[in-house]
Amino acid sequence: MAKIVLVLYDDPVDGYPTSYARDDCPQPEIYPDGQTLPTPNAIDFVPGALLGSVSGELGLRKYLEANGHELIVTSSKDGEDSVLDRELHDAEIIISQPFWPAYMTAERIAKAKKLKMIVTAGIGSDHTDLQAAIENNITVSEVTYCNSNAVAEHVVMSILALVRNFIPSHNWVLKGGWNIADCVSRSYDLEAMSVGTVAAGRIGLRVLRLLKAFGVKLHYMDRHRLPETVEQELDLTYHSTLESLAKVCDVVTLNCPLHPETEHMINEESLKWFKRGAYLVNTARGKLADRDAVVAALESGQLAGYAGDVWFPQPAPQDHPWRSMPNHGMTPHISGTSLSAQTRYAAGTREILECYFEGRPIRDEYLIVQGGQLAGVGAHSYSKGNATGGSEEAAKFKK
Ligand code: NDP
Repeated sequence: MAKIVLVLYDDPVDGYPTSYARDDCPQPEIYPDGQTLPTPNAIDFVPGALLGSVSGELGLRKYLEANGHELIVTSSKDGEDSVLDRELHDAEIIISQPFWPAYMTAERIAKAKKLKMIVTAGIGSDHTDLQAAIENNITVSEVTYCNSNAVAEHVVMSILALVRNFIPSHNWVLKGGWNIADCVSRSYDLEAMSVGTVAAGRIGLRVLRLLKAFGVKLHYMDRHRLPETVEQELDLTYHSTLESLAKVCDVVTLNCPLHPETEHMINEESLKWFKRGAYLVNTARGKLADRDAVVAALESGQLAGYAGDVWFPQPAPQDHPWRSMPNHGMTPHISGTSLSAQTRYAAGTREILECYFEGRPIRDEYLIVQGGQLAGVGAHSYSKGNATGGSEEAAKFKK
């Protein structure tokens, strides 16, 4: 029998939903590169249900308890008196979502003597100290592709919201105004602008494909080049450095994982490479950008806007300056946890657990660390090391 600790975000303030806005929740048949959607033996939830909050339990309780395991579900994850810290000592598996991450630091891993696996129900395992997982032979897995396209939709929405000045214009309606001049004095067309993505992996490439229809000039920067056929199809300009990309782009979007190589890639120095009035959209990870450098660039006008949904730490403290900086389009971390995406990553988490308990291999594309080294997708997209430093600040968030 194993003890599984599942850390999820809180239920809605008005209670767990008893009805939904729609009756169904359409799903793609296959991911764009041919990868199949999750293939668990069964699921015990209705697709489209709210699974990512505490009462939703990722639809896992029936399966786990039927197999004799103990499931602890909690949103209490930060500070030494958290339920997560109390339950760590004999937990075999810890599961959390990047939206409400259980920061699995080296200290926590050291306390969790029976820990065998850390699962990210979503994509992005930077909330786990990967170096400590490697050294302690703990498997780290995530549900690759489950919400990549969901995030790409949010990126396109955020770019349009910033460039067209949508949010302040909507706010004038709420305030009872008809202030067209106020609205349009910062509103432009996206058409003809140069848009660049830092990383052209699953999300970055999807963003490029979605944006193609807007008549923009497309740029990308990555460690590996895309196939020539894709570069030609989308008329892409490749850059080997952020500096080269930032110098020519009106809009830059970050779509790479957070690891020691990418931490704070957006900083006071690199922001000087950007065109004055560029827009920056970051739905990848908050720590890719230096918090205060972003605020300063918005205040000086070096950046015309910043949007995204990722912060550091999460949840962001009440006084996090990104809540109040000028010309921002921030949301809490939601882009990858639409009800549609939850259906996929809950099923993917179930698939990973079934593989683990039945002694079957976990898909290579779901593996980040295994057998004391980076593995599968992790070996391709991550570097060794730790990016969780400072995560204890999440305890400052007060409801
Ligand atoms: P992929 O693994 O498909 O893509 C990641 C890409 O980043 C790869 O192309 C990789 O390059 C590239 N990369 C890695 N390091 C660097 C670097 N130093 N410089 C430039 N490029 C780099 O992942 P996804 O596209 O699915 O997701 C990307 C990230 O987005 C996740 O790691 C996560 O942090 C974030 N995310 C956010 C979500 C949200 O809800 N907001 C949800 C899902 C993901 P290469 O392959 O060439 O090595």
